[in-house]
Amino acid sequence: MKLYAKPAHELHEMLLKKEISSTELTKDVLARMDETEDKVRAYITETRETALQAAAATDEKLARGETIAYFEGIPGAIKDNICTKGVKTTCASKMLENFVPPYDATVVEHLAAERPVILGKLNMDEFAMGGSTENSAFHETRNPWNTDCVPGGSSGGSAAAVAAGSAIWALGSDTGGSIRQPASFCGVVGMKPTYGRVSRYGLVAFASSLDQIGPVTRDVTDAAHLLQVIAGHDEYDSTSSASEVPDFAGALREDVKGLKIGVPKEFFVKGMDAEVEASVRGAIKKFEELGADVQEISLPHTEYAISVYYLIAPAEAATNLERYDGVSYGARVDGADVVEMMTKTRSEKFGEEVKRRILIGNYALSAGYYDAYYLKALKVRRLIKEDYDKAFQSVDVIVAPTAPTPAYKIGAMTNDPLKMYLQDVYTVPLNLAGLPGISLPCGYSGSKMPIGLQIIGKPLDEATVLRAAYTYEQSQTFCREMADLGVKA
Ligand code: GLN
Repeated sequence: MKLYAKPAHELHEMLLKKEISSTELTKDVLARMDETEDKVRAYITETRETALQAAAATDEKLARGETIAYFEGIPGAIKDNICTKGVKTTCASKMLENFVPPYDATVVEHLAAERPVILGKLNMDEFAMGGSTENSAFHETRNPWNTDCVPGGSSGGSAAAVAAGSAIWALGSDTGGSIRQPASFCGVVGMKPTYGRVSRYGLVAFASSLDQIGPVTRDVTDAAHLLQVIAGHDEYDSTSSASEVPDFAGALREDVKGLKIGVPKEFFVKGMDAEVEASVRGAIKKFEELGADVQEISLPHTEYAISVYYLIAPAEAATNLERYDGVSYGARVDGADVVEMMTKTRSEKFGEEVKRRILIGNYALSAGYYDAYYLKALKVRRLIKEDYDKAFQSVDVIVAPTAPTPAYKIGAMTNDPLKMYLQDVYTVPLNLAGLPGISLPCGYSGSKMPIGLQIIGKPLDEATVLRAAYTYEQSQTFCREMADLGVKA
Protein backbone atom coordinates (compact mmCIF):
# COMPACT_ATOMS: atom_id res chain seq x y z
CA MET A 1 0.00 0.00 0.00
CA LYS A 2 3.09 2.25 -0.08
CA LEU A 3 2.58 3.25 3.52
CA TYR A 4 6.12 4.62 3.48
CA ALA A 5 4.95 7.38 1.12
CA LYS A 6 2.35 8.84 3.49
CA PRO A 7 2.72 11.68 5.99
CA ALA A 8 2.43 10.92 9.70
CA HIS A 9 -0.97 12.59 10.08
CA GLU A 10 -2.54 10.18 7.58
CA LEU A 11 -0.81 7.20 9.14
CA HIS A 12 -1.93 8.28 12.59
CA GLU A 13 -5.57 8.30 11.43
CA MET A 14 -5.12 4.89 9.81
CA LEU A 15 -3.66 3.49 13.04
CA LEU A 16 -6.54 4.90 15.08
CA LYS A 17 -9.10 3.42 12.69
CA LYS A 18 -7.20 0.12 12.84
CA GLU A 19 -6.80 0.11 9.06
CA ILE A 20 -3.12 -0.67 9.61
CA SER A 21 -0.99 -1.79 12.51
CA SER A 22 2.24 -0.14 13.54
CA THR A 23 4.07 -3.40 12.88
CA GLU A 24 2.73 -3.49 9.34
CA LEU A 25 3.73 0.15 8.84
CA THR A 26 7.19 -0.34 10.33
CA LYS A 27 7.82 -3.41 8.19
CA ASP A 28 6.73 -1.48 5.11
CA VAL A 29 9.21 1.32 5.87
CA LEU A 30 11.96 -1.22 6.68
CA ALA A 31 11.29 -2.95 3.34
CA ARG A 32 11.59 0.42 1.63
CA MET A 33 14.85 0.95 3.51
CA ASP A 34 16.10 -2.40 2.19
CA GLU A 35 15.35 -1.28 -1.33
CA THR A 36 16.68 2.24 -1.15
CA GLU A 37 19.57 2.26 1.30
CA ASP A 38 22.20 0.82 -1.04
CA LYS A 39 21.41 3.71 -3.40
CA VAL A 40 20.72 6.53 -0.92
CA ARG A 41 22.73 5.60 2.20
CA ALA A 42 20.88 7.92 4.54
CA TYR A 43 21.61 5.94 7.71
CA ILE A 44 24.74 5.51 9.80
CA THR A 45 23.13 3.24 12.41
CA GLU A 46 19.95 1.20 12.08
CA THR A 47 17.95 0.14 15.12
CA ARG A 48 15.57 -2.31 13.49
CA GLU A 49 15.08 -4.60 16.45
CA THR A 50 14.00 -1.94 18.93
CA ALA A 51 11.93 -0.37 16.15
CA LEU A 52 9.85 -3.51 15.78
CA GLN A 53 9.54 -3.82 19.57
CA ALA A 54 8.19 -0.27 19.76
CA ALA A 55 5.75 -1.02 16.93
CA ALA A 56 4.50 -4.12 18.76
CA ALA A 57 3.99 -2.08 21.93
CA THR A 58 1.83 0.41 20.02
CA ASP A 59 -0.21 -2.40 18.52
CA GLU A 60 -0.83 -3.87 21.97
CA LYS A 61 -2.07 -0.51 23.18
CA LEU A 62 -4.38 -0.15 20.22
CA ALA A 63 -5.66 -3.69 20.79
CA ARG A 64 -6.50 -2.72 24.39
CA GLY A 65 -8.56 0.14 22.98
CA GLU A 66 -6.20 2.84 24.28
CA THR A 67 -5.58 6.00 22.34
CA ILE A 68 -2.16 6.92 20.96
CA ALA A 69 -0.10 10.07 20.56
CA TYR A 70 0.41 11.69 17.15
CA PHE A 71 3.79 10.09 16.39
CA GLU A 72 3.14 6.94 18.39
CA GLY A 73 3.99 3.86 16.35
CA ILE A 74 5.19 5.97 13.40
CA PRO A 75 8.73 5.28 12.14
CA GLY A 76 11.25 8.09 11.97
CA ALA A 77 14.93 8.71 12.56
CA ILE A 78 17.35 11.13 14.18
CA LYS A 79 20.40 13.01 12.91
CA ASP A 80 23.56 11.51 14.30
CA ASN A 81 24.61 14.58 16.28
CA ILE A 82 21.64 14.28 18.66
CA CYS A 83 22.43 12.12 21.67
CA THR A 84 20.50 8.88 22.02
CA LYS A 85 21.06 6.87 25.18
CA GLY A 86 22.64 3.51 24.41
CA VAL A 87 22.70 4.16 20.65
CA LYS A 88 25.89 5.33 18.93
CA THR A 89 26.02 9.06 18.18
CA THR A 90 28.97 9.61 15.86
CA CYS A 91 28.48 13.08 14.35
CA ALA A 92 29.71 11.28 11.22
CA SER A 93 33.22 11.67 12.64
CA LYS A 94 35.97 9.19 13.37
CA MET A 95 36.45 11.18 16.56
CA LEU A 96 33.12 9.91 17.91
CA GLU A 97 32.94 6.67 15.94
CA ASN A 98 32.41 4.62 19.10
CA PHE A 99 30.60 7.16 21.26
CA VAL A 100 27.53 5.73 22.96
CA PRO A 101 25.83 8.52 24.94
CA PRO A 102 24.83 7.73 28.51
CA TYR A 103 21.84 10.07 28.21
CA ASP A 104 19.17 11.24 25.78
CA ALA A 105 19.04 14.75 24.34
CA THR A 106 16.04 16.70 25.65
CA VAL A 107 14.36 16.47 22.23
CA VAL A 108 14.76 12.70 22.31
CA GLU A 109 13.19 12.60 25.77
CA HIS A 110 10.26 14.65 24.49
CA LEU A 111 9.94 12.30 21.54
CA ALA A 112 10.12 9.23 23.75
CA ALA A 113 7.02 10.45 25.56
CA GLU A 114 5.19 10.10 22.21
CA ARG A 115 6.51 6.54 21.78
CA PRO A 116 7.39 6.72 18.09
CA VAL A 117 9.28 3.97 16.27
CA ILE A 118 12.94 4.98 15.95
CA LEU A 119 14.64 3.42 12.94
CA GLY A 120 18.14 4.72 13.55
CA LYS A 121 20.63 7.55 13.24
CA LEU A 122 21.10 9.57 10.08
CA ASN A 123 24.15 10.58 8.11
CA MET A 124 25.43 14.17 8.04
CA ASP A 125 28.49 16.26 7.29
CA GLU A 126 31.08 15.66 10.00
CA PHE A 127 30.10 17.72 13.08
CA ALA A 128 27.43 19.34 10.83
CA MET A 129 30.08 21.28 8.92
CA GLY A 130 29.09 21.30 5.30
CA GLY A 131 26.22 21.54 2.88
CA SER A 132 26.31 18.28 0.92
CA THR A 133 26.84 15.36 3.36
CA GLU A 134 30.04 14.63 1.43
CA ASN A 135 32.00 15.53 4.57
CA SER A 136 30.75 12.46 6.45
CA ALA A 137 33.74 10.40 7.59
CA PHE A 138 31.83 7.22 6.71
CA HIS A 139 30.06 7.56 3.38
CA GLU A 140 28.20 10.10 1.30
CA THR A 141 24.41 10.18 1.09
CA ARG A 142 22.73 10.54 -2.28
CA ASN A 143 19.72 12.54 -3.39
CA PRO A 144 16.70 10.25 -3.95
CA TRP A 145 15.55 12.43 -6.88
CA ASN A 146 18.82 11.75 -8.70
CA THR A 147 21.43 9.60 -7.02
CA ASP A 148 24.23 11.36 -8.94
CA CYS A 149 23.39 14.47 -6.93
CA VAL A 150 24.04 15.48 -3.32
CA PRO A 151 21.11 15.55 -0.88
CA GLY A 152 22.36 18.82 0.60
CA GLY A 153 23.63 19.07 4.14
CA SER A 154 24.52 18.89 6.76
CA SER A 155 21.25 17.06 7.59
CA GLY A 156 21.46 15.24 4.24
CA GLY A 157 20.59 11.88 5.80
CA SER A 158 17.46 13.35 7.41
CA ALA A 159 16.15 14.90 4.19
CA ALA A 160 17.15 11.96 1.98
CA ALA A 161 15.49 9.41 4.29
CA VAL A 162 12.19 11.32 4.35
CA ALA A 163 12.36 11.86 0.57
CA ALA A 164 13.19 8.20 -0.09
CA GLY A 165 10.51 6.84 2.24
CA SER A 166 13.02 5.17 4.55
CA ALA A 167 11.66 7.36 7.38
CA ILE A 168 8.31 9.12 7.73
CA TRP A 169 9.81 11.96 9.77
CA ALA A 170 13.26 12.97 10.96
CA LEU A 171 15.06 15.38 13.23
CA GLY A 172 17.85 17.54 11.86
CA SER A 173 19.94 20.42 13.11
CA ASP A 174 20.50 23.81 11.51
CA THR A 175 23.44 26.10 12.25
CA GLY A 176 23.56 27.91 8.91
CA GLY A 177 20.91 26.15 6.82
CA SER A 178 21.47 22.47 7.52
CA ILE A 179 17.77 21.62 7.83
CA ARG A 180 16.36 23.98 5.22
CA GLN A 181 18.87 23.49 2.41
CA PRO A 182 18.72 19.65 2.35
CA ALA A 183 14.91 19.88 2.60
CA SER A 184 15.03 22.15 -0.46
CA PHE A 185 17.34 19.77 -2.37
CA CYS A 186 15.26 16.68 -1.52
CA GLY A 187 11.74 18.09 -1.97
CA VAL A 188 10.63 17.79 1.66
CA VAL A 189 9.71 20.22 4.44
CA GLY A 190 12.37 21.37 6.91
CA MET A 191 12.06 23.93 9.65
CA LYS A 192 14.60 25.79 11.74
CA PRO A 193 12.82 27.10 14.82
CA THR A 194 13.66 30.40 16.52
CA TYR A 195 16.95 30.20 18.39
CA GLY A 196 15.93 29.05 21.87
CA ARG A 197 12.58 27.53 20.90
CA VAL A 198 14.02 24.00 21.10
CA SER A 199 16.50 22.81 23.71
CA ARG A 200 20.04 22.17 22.51
CA TYR A 201 20.81 19.92 25.46
CA GLY A 202 22.27 16.74 24.02
CA LEU A 203 22.91 18.23 20.58
CA VAL A 204 26.65 17.90 19.99
CA ALA A 205 27.75 21.52 19.76
CA PHE A 206 28.99 23.03 16.50
CA ALA A 207 28.37 26.78 16.91
CA SER A 208 26.37 27.26 20.08
CA SER A 209 24.91 30.69 19.31
CA LEU A 210 23.52 29.43 15.99
CA ASP A 211 22.59 25.74 16.44
CA GLN A 212 18.92 24.69 16.54
CA ILE A 213 17.23 21.29 16.22
CA GLY A 214 14.16 21.07 14.00
CA PRO A 215 11.79 18.82 12.06
CA VAL A 216 12.22 17.32 8.60
CA THR A 217 8.92 15.96 7.34
CA ARG A 218 6.86 15.17 4.28
CA ASP A 219 4.50 18.08 4.76
CA VAL A 220 3.81 21.20 6.80
CA THR A 221 1.21 19.55 9.04
CA ASP A 222 3.77 17.01 10.24
CA ALA A 223 6.36 19.77 10.71
CA ALA A 224 3.93 21.64 12.99
CA HIS A 225 3.24 18.52 15.05
CA LEU A 226 6.90 17.50 15.33
CA LEU A 227 7.89 21.01 16.38
CA GLN A 228 5.17 20.86 19.03
CA VAL A 229 6.73 17.71 20.46
CA ILE A 230 10.29 19.04 20.67
CA ALA A 231 9.69 22.71 21.58
CA GLY A 232 9.76 24.23 25.03
CA HIS A 233 11.88 25.53 27.85
CA ASP A 234 14.57 23.29 29.27
CA GLU A 235 16.44 24.03 32.46
CA TYR A 236 19.43 22.15 31.00
CA ASP A 237 19.78 24.74 28.20
CA SER A 238 20.11 28.24 29.60
CA THR A 239 19.50 29.71 26.13
CA SER A 240 16.16 27.95 25.72
CA SER A 241 13.22 30.32 25.69
CA ALA A 242 10.80 30.46 28.59
CA SER A 243 7.99 31.73 26.36
CA GLU A 244 4.90 29.64 26.10
CA VAL A 245 4.73 27.21 23.19
CA PRO A 246 1.61 27.92 21.11
CA ASP A 247 -0.56 25.29 19.45
CA PHE A 248 1.30 25.06 16.12
CA ALA A 249 -1.08 22.61 14.46
CA GLY A 250 -3.98 24.80 15.57
CA ALA A 251 -2.36 27.68 13.70
CA LEU A 252 -2.58 25.83 10.38
CA ARG A 253 -5.33 27.61 8.50
CA GLU A 254 -5.62 27.92 4.78
CA ASP A 255 -5.61 31.65 4.92
CA VAL A 256 -3.10 34.37 4.09
CA LYS A 257 -5.61 37.10 3.34
CA GLY A 258 -4.09 40.41 4.38
CA LEU A 259 -0.89 38.72 5.54
CA LYS A 260 1.97 41.11 4.84
CA ILE A 261 4.73 39.33 2.95
CA GLY A 262 8.13 40.95 2.36
CA VAL A 263 10.30 40.14 -0.63
CA PRO A 264 13.89 41.25 0.03
CA LYS A 265 15.35 42.91 -3.04
CA GLU A 266 18.87 41.86 -2.03
CA PHE A 267 17.87 38.19 -2.37
CA PHE A 268 16.96 38.50 -6.04
CA VAL A 269 20.13 39.54 -7.74
CA LYS A 270 21.30 39.60 -11.32
CA GLY A 271 22.85 36.33 -12.33
CA MET A 272 20.84 34.22 -9.90
CA ASP A 273 19.72 30.78 -11.05
CA ALA A 274 16.84 31.35 -13.48
CA GLU A 275 14.89 28.24 -12.46
CA VAL A 276 15.14 29.07 -8.77
CA GLU A 277 14.06 32.64 -9.44
CA ALA A 278 11.11 31.54 -11.60
CA SER A 279 9.88 29.03 -9.00
CA VAL A 280 10.16 31.42 -6.07
CA ARG A 281 8.55 34.28 -8.02
CA GLY A 282 5.77 31.85 -8.98
CA ALA A 283 5.19 31.15 -5.28
CA ILE A 284 5.11 34.88 -4.51
CA LYS A 285 2.50 35.36 -7.24
CA LYS A 286 0.47 32.54 -5.73
CA PHE A 287 0.54 34.28 -2.35
CA GLU A 288 -0.81 37.43 -4.03
CA GLU A 289 -3.60 35.45 -5.64
CA LEU A 290 -4.42 33.99 -2.25
CA GLY A 291 -4.91 37.49 -0.88
CA ALA A 292 -1.56 38.26 0.75
CA ASP A 293 -0.22 41.77 0.62
CA VAL A 294 3.21 41.40 -1.00
CA GLN A 295 5.72 44.23 -0.74
CA GLU A 296 9.39 44.71 -1.54
CA ILE A 297 11.66 45.16 1.46
CA SER A 298 15.36 45.80 1.90
CA LEU A 299 17.86 43.87 4.03
CA PRO A 300 20.90 46.00 3.23
CA HIS A 301 23.52 44.00 5.15
CA THR A 302 22.73 40.70 3.42
CA GLU A 303 25.98 40.81 1.45
CA TYR A 304 28.00 40.47 4.67
CA ALA A 305 26.13 37.46 6.03
CA ILE A 306 28.39 34.76 4.58
CA SER A 307 31.58 36.46 5.81
CA VAL A 308 30.10 37.02 9.25
CA TYR A 309 28.83 33.45 9.51
CA TYR A 310 32.13 31.96 8.33
CA LEU A 311 33.93 33.82 11.11
CA ILE A 312 31.48 33.29 13.97
CA ALA A 313 30.61 29.64 13.22
CA PRO A 314 34.26 28.49 12.94
CA ALA A 315 35.25 30.57 15.99
CA GLU A 316 32.61 28.85 18.09
CA ALA A 317 33.41 25.50 16.50
CA ALA A 318 37.12 25.83 17.25
CA THR A 319 36.24 26.43 20.89
CA ASN A 320 33.62 23.68 21.11
CA LEU A 321 35.91 21.14 19.47
CA GLU A 322 38.77 21.80 21.89
CA ARG A 323 37.25 19.14 24.13
CA TYR A 324 38.29 16.36 21.74
CA ASP A 325 41.80 16.13 23.05
CA GLY A 326 42.20 12.38 23.37
CA VAL A 327 41.56 12.62 27.11
CA SER A 328 38.19 14.14 27.98
CA TYR A 329 36.12 13.18 24.96
CA GLY A 330 36.23 10.98 21.89
CA ALA A 331 38.87 8.82 20.30
CA ARG A 332 42.55 8.65 21.21
CA VAL A 333 45.56 7.82 19.08
CA ASP A 334 48.53 6.96 21.29
CA GLY A 335 51.80 8.90 21.10
CA ALA A 336 55.17 9.02 22.87
CA ASP A 337 54.04 11.89 25.09
CA VAL A 338 50.91 13.89 25.72
CA VAL A 339 51.58 16.46 23.01
CA GLU A 340 52.17 13.79 20.39
CA MET A 341 49.09 11.91 21.56
CA MET A 342 46.89 15.01 21.20
CA THR A 343 48.43 15.99 17.89
CA LYS A 344 47.96 12.54 16.43
CA THR A 345 44.43 12.22 17.81
CA ARG A 346 43.25 15.49 16.33
CA SER A 347 45.16 15.09 13.05
CA GLU A 348 43.91 11.59 12.38
CA LYS A 349 40.38 11.71 13.76
CA PHE A 350 39.11 15.04 12.39
CA GLY A 351 38.36 15.34 8.67
CA GLU A 352 39.63 18.05 6.31
CA GLU A 353 36.67 20.42 6.63
CA VAL A 354 36.58 20.22 10.41
CA LYS A 355 40.30 21.04 10.55
CA ARG A 356 39.78 23.94 8.16
CA ARG A 357 37.11 25.38 10.46
CA ILE A 358 39.30 24.93 13.54
CA LEU A 359 42.12 26.80 11.79
CA ILE A 360 39.88 29.65 10.61
CA GLY A 361 38.20 29.88 14.00
CA ASN A 362 41.37 29.98 16.05
CA TYR A 363 42.86 32.51 13.65
CA ALA A 364 39.83 34.79 14.02
CA LEU A 365 40.01 34.46 17.82
CA SER A 366 43.76 34.87 18.19
CA ALA A 367 45.03 37.85 20.17
CA GLY A 368 46.25 39.85 17.18
CA TYR A 369 43.19 39.33 15.02
CA TYR A 370 40.30 39.14 17.48
CA ASP A 371 39.24 42.79 17.04
CA ALA A 372 39.66 42.80 13.28
CA TYR A 373 37.76 39.57 12.64
CA TYR A 374 35.73 38.08 15.46
CA LEU A 375 34.67 41.29 17.15
CA LYS A 376 33.93 42.94 13.81
CA ALA A 377 31.84 39.93 12.80
CA LEU A 378 29.80 40.23 16.01
CA LYS A 379 29.12 43.90 15.24
CA VAL A 380 27.99 43.17 11.70
CA ARG A 381 25.85 40.31 13.04
CA ARG A 382 23.99 42.93 15.05
CA LEU A 383 23.46 45.03 11.90
CA ILE A 384 22.03 42.02 10.10
CA LYS A 385 19.67 41.38 13.00
CA GLU A 386 18.60 45.05 12.91
CA ASP A 387 17.79 44.76 9.18
CA TYR A 388 15.29 42.04 10.04
CA ASP A 389 13.90 43.88 13.08
CA LYS A 390 13.22 46.85 10.85
CA ALA A 391 11.68 44.78 8.05
CA PHE A 392 9.38 43.05 10.49
CA GLN A 393 7.92 46.40 11.49
CA SER A 394 6.14 46.43 8.15
CA VAL A 395 5.73 42.74 7.22
CA ASP A 396 4.61 39.53 8.97
CA VAL A 397 6.82 37.08 7.08
CA ILE A 398 9.57 37.25 4.49
CA VAL A 399 9.81 34.90 1.50
CA ALA A 400 13.00 33.98 -0.30
CA PRO A 401 14.71 31.11 -2.04
CA THR A 402 16.17 28.50 0.33
CA ALA A 403 19.23 27.78 -1.78
CA PRO A 404 20.71 29.52 -4.82
CA THR A 405 20.56 26.36 -6.94
CA PRO A 406 18.86 22.96 -7.01
CA ALA A 407 20.94 19.94 -5.87
CA TYR A 408 24.23 19.68 -7.74
CA LYS A 409 26.32 16.70 -8.75
CA ILE A 410 28.33 14.79 -6.17
CA GLY A 411 31.92 16.06 -6.21
CA ALA A 412 31.03 19.32 -7.99
CA MET A 413 32.18 21.54 -5.11
CA THR A 414 34.43 19.40 -2.96
CA ASN A 415 37.57 21.09 -4.29
CA ASP A 416 36.24 24.58 -3.79
CA PRO A 417 35.18 25.22 -0.18
CA LEU A 418 34.49 28.90 -0.84
CA LYS A 419 32.02 28.07 -3.59
CA MET A 420 30.34 25.67 -1.19
CA TYR A 421 30.16 28.38 1.51
CA LEU A 422 28.49 30.78 -0.92
CA GLN A 423 25.61 28.31 -1.25
CA ASP A 424 24.53 29.35 2.25
CA VAL A 425 23.72 32.93 1.29
CA TYR A 426 19.94 32.65 1.88
CA THR A 427 20.02 30.52 5.00
CA VAL A 428 22.76 31.86 7.30
CA PRO A 429 21.14 35.27 7.96
CA LEU A 430 18.33 33.55 9.91
CA ASN A 431 20.79 31.79 12.19
CA LEU A 432 22.72 35.01 12.72
CA ALA A 433 19.47 36.82 13.59
CA GLY A 434 17.97 33.87 15.51
CA LEU A 435 14.83 33.77 13.34
CA PRO A 436 12.55 30.86 12.43
CA GLY A 437 12.39 29.66 8.84
CA ILE A 438 10.86 26.84 6.87
CA SER A 439 11.68 25.38 3.47
CA LEU A 440 9.03 23.67 1.37
CA PRO A 441 8.87 22.62 -2.28
CA CYS A 442 7.87 25.31 -4.79
CA GLY A 443 8.96 23.86 -8.12
CA TYR A 444 11.33 21.71 -10.12
CA SER A 445 14.35 22.40 -12.24
CA GLY A 446 14.39 21.36 -15.91
CA SER A 447 15.93 18.05 -14.84
CA LYS A 448 13.16 17.55 -12.27
CA MET A 449 15.16 18.35 -9.17
CA PRO A 450 13.15 19.99 -6.37
CA ILE A 451 13.39 23.71 -5.64
CA GLY A 452 12.62 25.08 -2.17
CA LEU A 453 10.80 28.19 -0.97
CA GLN A 454 11.92 29.70 2.30
CA ILE A 455 9.48 31.50 4.61
CA ILE A 456 11.07 33.52 7.40
CA GLY A 457 9.26 34.72 10.52
CA LYS A 458 9.58 37.04 13.49
CA PRO A 459 11.29 35.64 16.57
CA LEU A 460 9.07 33.00 18.23
CA ASP A 461 6.43 33.39 15.52
CA GLU A 462 6.74 29.92 14.00
CA ALA A 463 2.93 29.80 13.99
CA THR A 464 2.61 32.44 11.25
CA VAL A 465 5.45 30.84 9.25
CA LEU A 466 3.66 27.49 9.43
CA ARG A 467 0.31 29.03 8.46
CA ALA A 468 1.79 30.74 5.40
CA ALA A 469 3.61 27.53 4.43
CA TYR A 470 0.48 25.42 4.90
CA THR A 471 -1.64 27.76 2.80
CA TYR A 472 0.88 27.71 -0.02
CA GLU A 473 1.31 23.93 0.25
CA GLN A 474 -2.43 23.39 -0.16
CA SER A 475 -2.37 25.43 -3.38
CA GLN A 476 0.11 23.25 -5.31
CA THR A 477 1.34 19.69 -5.72
CA PHE A 478 5.15 19.87 -6.02
CA CYS A 479 6.93 16.78 -4.71
CA ARG A 480 3.72 15.06 -3.60
CA GLU A 481 4.91 11.95 -5.41
CA MET A 482 7.92 10.16 -3.97
CA ALA A 483 11.16 10.37 -5.88
CA ASP A 484 11.40 7.51 -8.35
CA LEU A 485 14.33 5.41 -7.23
CA GLY A 486 13.60 2.70 -9.71
CA VAL A 487 12.54 0.36 -6.93
CA LYS A 488 9.16 -1.03 -6.15
CA ALA A 489 7.82 -1.50 -2.66
N1 GLN B 1 26.59 24.79 5.31
C1 GLN B 1 26.77 25.49 6.54
C2 GLN B 1 28.13 25.17 7.11
O1 GLN B 1 28.82 24.44 6.51
C3 GLN B 1 25.67 25.17 7.50
C4 GLN B 1 25.88 23.97 8.33
C5 GLN B 1 24.80 23.74 9.34
O2 GLN B 1 23.78 24.40 9.34
N2 GLN B 1 25.08 22.82 10.26
O3 GLN B 1 28.51 25.63 8.13
